[in-house]
Formats: sequence, structure tokens, C-alpha cells
Amino acid sequence: MKDLLSPESLMMTYGYEPEWSEGAIKTPLFLTSTFTFKTAEEGKAYFELAYGLREKDKSEEVGLIYSRINNPNLEILENRLCLWDKADDCAVFESGMSAISTVLLEFLKPGDLLLFSSPTYGGTDHFINHFLNKIGVDSIGFHPNQTKEEIIELIEKTGKADRFSYIYIETPANPTNELIDLKMCREIADFFGTPEKRVGIAVDNTYMGPLWSSPLQHGADLVIYSATKYIGGHSDVIAGAVLGNAERIKRVKTLRTFLGNMASPHTCWLLLRSLETLKIRMEQQARNAKDVASFLEHHADIKEVLFLGNLDKSSRAYRIYKEQYTSSGAMISFRVAGGEKEAFRFLNELRLIKLAVSLGSTESLVQHPASMTHAGVCPVLKMKMGITDDLVRLSVGIENSKDLIWDIGQALAATYQTEKEGKALLVYQ
Ligand SMILES: *Cc1c(COP(=O)(O)O)cnc(C)c1O
Repeated sequence: MKDLLSPESLMMTYGYEPEWSEGAIKTPLFLTSTFTFKTAEEGKAYFELAYGLREKDKSEEVGLIYSRINNPNLEILENRLCLWDKADDCAVFESGMSAISTVLLEFLKPGDLLLFSSPTYGGTDHFINHFLNKIGVDSIGFHPNQTKEEIIELIEKTGKADRFSYIYIETPANPTNELIDLKMCREIADFFGTPEKRVGIAVDNTYMGPLWSSPLQHGADLVIYSATKYIGGHSDVIAGAVLGNAERIKRVKTLRTFLGNMASPHTCWLLLRSLETLKIRMEQQARNAKDVASFLEHHADIKEVLFLGNLDKSSRAYRIYKEQYTSSGAMISFRVAGGEKEAFRFLNELRLIKLAVSLGSTESLVQHPASMTHAGVCPVLKMKMGITDDLVRLSVGIENSKDLIWDIGQALAATYQTEKEGKALLVYQ
């Protein structure tokens, strides 16, 4: 049935049987740290599987032992998430950062070289540059506009190409919506990889997944989410997820067992509820984003709109967009006329749209990357990435797009009003 039906049709029921819980239609919250074994023999059998002491029999179910290893809420959530990305298996974490750091710790070791796309999420950047380097993992960043040849040269110039072992990608890039070509990354990985040593690829798919982008179908080994964003979707939970084939997720889950950073039953229960509306939320957000972007594009006080729905059709970005994505998404960045002063005035004048970091939630959120999410990036790099003082990032929610447009319009009018009155005075004189 799983292969016959669409994921959205399965989000309410898949992987849970009401008879397990007094006929309850919804998955109850399993607040239990440990599980009883029917017999000592059963306990022994479960542990044999948990420790990999023997192969699983065909008909055998992996039993529940202890909630750090598994829990019904965790398992049902992981099974449902697999449907969207068509993955073998999934591991859910208590945050996006714990998903990211666990993957990097499992697949890299001291002496290895990591290639990562830059800009990347601030927490990821910090983990790579301030933690991994401390344990002897070298890293090198590349930019979305660099070509395959340039990146290969970059790796060779480090003198550590023989130790190059992993690529970490975030696409679209935050906050500029620049795109990374996954096919190109797979080619780079295969260029340096050998039959004995595969160069792996992990993709942070938080911005466009799981609905509009499936990196596993484009050569990625693992796909990672901050489930705090679209998957959770209500700004009320922090969580993360990693998906991939059975062998890789087994490694991720094993390290998770020992780091103890699995998601709690309550976190999983909230995400199970969120998954039921994932598709309708994301589709409404994308529709709204199109309306808002087209309003911004025609507004005299907006200098530039960075949105996947308005890429130049002859650009490399457009080609990647067509290959990798099925929607223009719901993240818009734009430059207002002026600089920080005007950007701040605009942000302070908004009445419906809230000023906060994070994204992907039902309510629209705006923030100022240069002074907020990317405040820690060095000024030179910030300029190079286009994270300028006039840039505002908007995560479009599920409100009526007319109301969002009204709010942005009134805030822009208020921002530039005094300036225009000044100009009008000059004309009169
Ligand atoms: C928010 C975010 C993260 C970090 O996730 P948390 O759930 O906050 O730990 C990682 N990557 C991207 C792209 C994000 O937006």
C-alpha cells in the first residue's frame, strides 16, 4: 500500500495500528523510558539484534528495549518521514544541529578533508570551523558560483586531496537563495573517490524539503533537516532528521544511541501532528510567496528580489532550479532602497509579519541577516556573499497573501514617507 499511495494520504495512519492502544485513532504519547520483555529469552533476542550479534530472521520484529534506543513515537515518525524522501530509513534528533553534528562526527575522522558549501547555516559553519578543526578535521568552503573545475583545483591546492572524504551542501543557500548543483557535486566526489573509498555527500534540505526537493534522487548519500522549520512548521518545537540508505542510517543511529541525542517522545508526537498538514501548509506558503514576490518586484522602493520564482531563464541557477526543484519555495530575500537605517525602519513598521529568526512556520517571519543570523560572518565574506545592510529575509507563512502584501506595502510606505515628503518639498521650492 505504501508504494501505491501518496505520502500525504499516509501521514495520518501509516505505521500505527489503533489496536495497539485501545483503538485510539491517534498515536498516543508513549511517555516511558523502558519496555518490559515477555520472557528473558525475548530480552536476550532483542539485545542480540541491538548489538548486532546476529542477523535478524525474516519474520522477526526488532523489539523495544529502552527509549534512548527506540520508542514508538520515534519509530512511527521516522517511518513516515521516509515516505517523502523515498529513503530506506531515518533518524530523528532533538535538533537540526544534533542531526548535522552527528552526521559529521560519524562520517569524518581526524586527518580527513571536508568540502562544504558556503554560506552555510551559522551553527553548521561554527561546528565545522571551531569544533571539527579542533579534532583535526580540515575543511574548505566553496561558493555557489564556482565551477566544477575551480572546485577540483581548490581541493587539489590544499595538498590533502588524498584525504578528501566528504561533501556537505546546503542548497538553496541562506539567505541569498543561490543554488548548488548536486550532480556536479556527485561528479566531484566520484572524481576523488575510489572503489575502496567513496566520497560521501550530505545535503541540508531544510529550505525546500521534503516536498520540493529530493537530494537522494540527485546523488546525495544523506539528506538532513532542521525539522524545526517546515516539518514542524508551527514554531513550537526544535528537532532534526537524517535520511538515507539502511547501512548509513544504521551508522547514524548507532552514534545517536551513544551521544543520546535522539528526539524525545513528545517532540516526535508534535512532529507526527505536524506531518499531517505538511503538504497543504507548504503549498499555501509557496502560493503566497509567489504573490508577495511579484508585489515586491514591482515596488519602486525594492532594489532586488532574490526568489527562485524569478530566476533569469538563461542562467546556470535556472538550469539547476529546473533539475532539482519542483516549486519556487516560500523563502524570499530582498534589498530595500537605502541601507540598515531603511531596512530597520521597514522591519519596525510591519504589523502582521513578526520580526524573528527561524523559518518555515505557519506565521510569516522577517529578519535582517547582516545583523542577525549572519552577524558572526566576517565583513569581507559578508559582502562577497551579498549579505548587505539593505537585505531582508522573509519566510512566507499561510496567511492570506493579500494581508501580507498590505502589511509590506504599508511598512514600505511608512519607511520612505518622510524621504518622499522631503523630495516633494524640494520640487516645490
Ligand atoms: C535552523 C537551521 C538549522 C539548525 O537547526 P536547529 O533545529 O535550529 O538545530 C540547520 N540548517 C538550516 C538550513 C536551518 O535553517
